[in-house]
Amino acid sequence: MTDVEKPINFIQQVINADLSAGRVKKVITRFPPEPNGYLHIGHAKSICVNFGLAEQYGGICNLRFDDTNPEKEDEEFVQAIIEDVEWLGYDLGEGPCYASNYFEQLYIWAKYLITQGKAYVCELNAEQMREYRGTLTEVGKNSPFRDRTAVESLSLLEDMRLGLIDEGAMTLRAKIDMASPNINLRDPVLYRIKKMAHQRTGDKWNIYPSYDFAHGQEDAIEGVTHSVCTLEFAANRPLYEWFTTNLPLPSIPRQYEFGRLNLNYTITSKRKLKQLVDQGHVDGWSDPRMPTISGLRRRGVSAAAIRNFCNSLAVAKTDGTVDMAQFEHFIRDDLNVNAGRAMCVFKPFLITLSNYSEQEQFNVPCHPNREELGQRTLDFGRQIYIDRSDFSEDTTLSRKKFKRLVIGEYVRLRSAYIIRADEIIKDAAGEIIEVIASLVPDTVGQDAPEGIRPRGVIHWVSKHTSADCTVNVYDRLFTVASPDEGDRDMLDYLNPDSLVEMTGCKVEAGLVDAIAGDHYQFEREGYFTRDSGDLDNLVFNCTIGLRDNWKA
Ligand code: ATP
Ligand code: MG
Repeated sequence: MTDVEKPINFIQQVINADLSAGRVKKVITRFPPEPNGYLHIGHAKSICVNFGLAEQYGGICNLRFDDTNPEKEDEEFVQAIIEDVEWLGYDLGEGPCYASNYFEQLYIWAKYLITQGKAYVCELNAEQMREYRGTLTEVGKNSPFRDRTAVESLSLLEDMRLGLIDEGAMTLRAKIDMASPNINLRDPVLYRIKKMAHQRTGDKWNIYPSYDFAHGQEDAIEGVTHSVCTLEFAANRPLYEWFTTNLPLPSIPRQYEFGRLNLNYTITSKRKLKQLVDQGHVDGWSDPRMPTISGLRRRGVSAAAIRNFCNSLAVAKTDGTVDMAQFEHFIRDDLNVNAGRAMCVFKPFLITLSNYSEQEQFNVPCHPNREELGQRTLDFGRQIYIDRSDFSEDTTLSRKKFKRLVIGEYVRLRSAYIIRADEIIKDAAGEIIEVIASLVPDTVGQDAPEGIRPRGVIHWVSKHTSADCTVNVYDRLFTVASPDEGDRDMLDYLNPDSLVEMTGCKVEAGLVDAIAGDHYQFEREGYFTRDSGDLDNLVFNCTIGLRDNWKA
């Protein structure tokens, strides 16, 4: 479906109404990752929704780092996130925003709440605070520090900030309602003491704002009109609105929630992906088996495929799990149109042409239906490699079942000659090491002569110019559709065969300088890109097979 045909989603309905009522002049959205890991396919959906809305309405979308917790955050993640968002094709305008740039302003607002009698410094420790909070069925109890004077709270908050108070000894809390049915409103914490340097503000702060106190205020500072997040924040919305009501903010943003994207056979939780990385189950965040944007990129998935997939999904008010096959459909669709053709033999099997001693070059199109992608040159010579699986010693196999080479019969070499297999050469151990064949002259680009019926068309490379390479073929990372469901330990369901590394493969000479990120269809095998993780060697990663032959 094109954008025009697609029914508008509930957020677009809200925006249309806001624009026509004049409540909003320019749509401003944001994508607010915490830099505590790499972005995954779920984030891609959020990016497409937020940047997509800004694009559609001629507004802007800020990439804003929610860097309020120095404990888990790192500059490496900041850089990786910027790279991923830009690679997906979105413009960062004047650059990313950082929550940490607003720490000063947030602190001023915290003091404002205190002076309004709407916040206080509390000395309950974490355990006591839990006790006082109550449960879903039981109301909470007021903190004994709730009614201390504003003057005292202001002075203690300043001491907290200056590092004069121990971690965990005090917090700043909003004074809302300990009996609220919404636990988020039971005097939530606004600031915690963390005597920890921050990657951007250094040692300046000994206290850091909570997500809830920071997020809506950051939105207000940036003039965000529609703060779009995932459903798990729905219960935080009353608190978000409590702040926008009780603080003198420069603008009043509104929060809307949509369903998270989950994909089966993988996980979309940064925390769990981090566990896979930290425990060495994968080769870092960008391992081609990871559902991270950088992993998908290294795998050879294009940015367009990710965008097309995300934009095909509903923006709904319920969480959903999408079938991996649906994503793969978009990956394949894109590669079929955009990947240049090439030949690579995974298990080289030597063929010597007894009646041919020349060397030739053939110019062949890079893509069968896209002339504009140009031509490539194939070298041809007396010795070539075909794939081991394309020759069988069993001559009784029917033509229908085995459309490949057997002794006494013909096949066409893709874009080259028709050949006939004549004789098998074995080594002392009885292993076939070579097949002697003969070439049928004048068959390049020509129909087979009378009386010659090739069994099929197979791929090949020349022996004298093909290059050695390694090919990585991937399977799903997990053996079950929902590896982290309920109390499952995802590690129990890791697929031991998710990576098959094949060395000693042979690729046509033109791919010696293949560029990581360029896409190729290896004829009859699948779609590949050069591995960006090992540019010293010629390594190709399989993005996806030609057909969906994966069985559930
Ligand atoms: P995770 O649960 O993987 O740690 P997160 O929500 O903690 O993700 P953030 O860095 O806070 O990660 O996410 C940034 C934005 O991306 C948030 O607005 C969040 O709602 C959105 N987001 C995260 N995961 C998904 C998902 N699976 N589908 C859609 N949006 C997502
Ligand atoms: Mg989060």
